[in-house]
Amino acid sequence: MPELPEVETVCRSLSDQIVGRKIQRVTIRRRGIIHGPAQPHHLLVGNTISEIRRHGKQMALIGKNAPHACVCVHLGMTGALVCRQSKRQVAHDRHCHVIWHLGQESNLVFRDPRRFGGIWTLASFAKLEKSRWASLGPDALQITPTKLRKQLANTARPIKAALLDQNVLAGLGNIYVDELLFNCHLHPANPACLLPFDQLQSLVTKMRRLLPRAIAKGGSSTRDYVDGRGRMGHFQLYHRVYGRAKQPCRRCQTTLLHTKIAGRTTVFCPKCQRYPTPTKKY
Ligand SMILES: [Zn+2]
Repeated sequence: MPELPEVETVCRSLSDQIVGRKIQRVTIRRRGIIHGPAQPHHLLVGNTISEIRRHGKQMALIGKNAPHACVCVHLGMTGALVCRQSKRQVAHDRHCHVIWHLGQESNLVFRDPRRFGGIWTLASFAKLEKSRWASLGPDALQITPTKLRKQLANTARPIKAALLDQNVLAGLGNIYVDELLFNCHLHPANPACLLPFDQLQSLVTKMRRLLPRAIAKGGSSTRDYVDGRGRMGHFQLYHRVYGRAKQPCRRCQTTLLHTKIAGRTTVFCPKCQRYPTPTKKY
């Protein structure tokens, strides 16, 4: 599933291809993936894309002219928002659900084989911030240790489960939570509300290192993720625990274990990641 580094990579790779471009028309092949009204102007037809914004794993295409100036895209599990330069590339692709025609044979395509993603149409970016994005927690690249302490204060869930919860913190999924907890020497089952403040400070510091490193490598292509130009990411080559169960820890050579937390496969090093953590309640 595309997480913050992958979605940020998509936004950056699309920026110079679609910002400033006018949308000529739109082809909707599968109405069910669009939430909200879906007349052409709701999907920015006749409008010029002025900006792409991101919060957590979601992005917004913002039109220059109101009304109907915002389209929110969630890539879900297998979604991609990608520019295609030829009609032939989309004509026989049954997973292309919405096609924005930008002129000169250039198209912006939303494709999603498993259809867990979707598109939301809104009258403005402010409306998106007040509705769909209002329930999301702070973005993982913006959160401060103090804010994270507040977000985790009332949850005794395992830290892994809490960090996966988009209402607590927006942007992390299974890949980057496992990688982050390994980097922090934290066992994924530690109760979130019992982590001392210095561990939360360390967690935020390491998150601010991990996510930009992953963005610099174009994100992780563990399945079929590609960026806005159709390119794969390379950060999967640098994973230290995710997808490496039963392999030796790259730090101490102990065999990595896997378990299930919050219904998600979780990989960790039983030697490097301590449990229970010191439980100094603040
Ligand atoms: Zn280890």
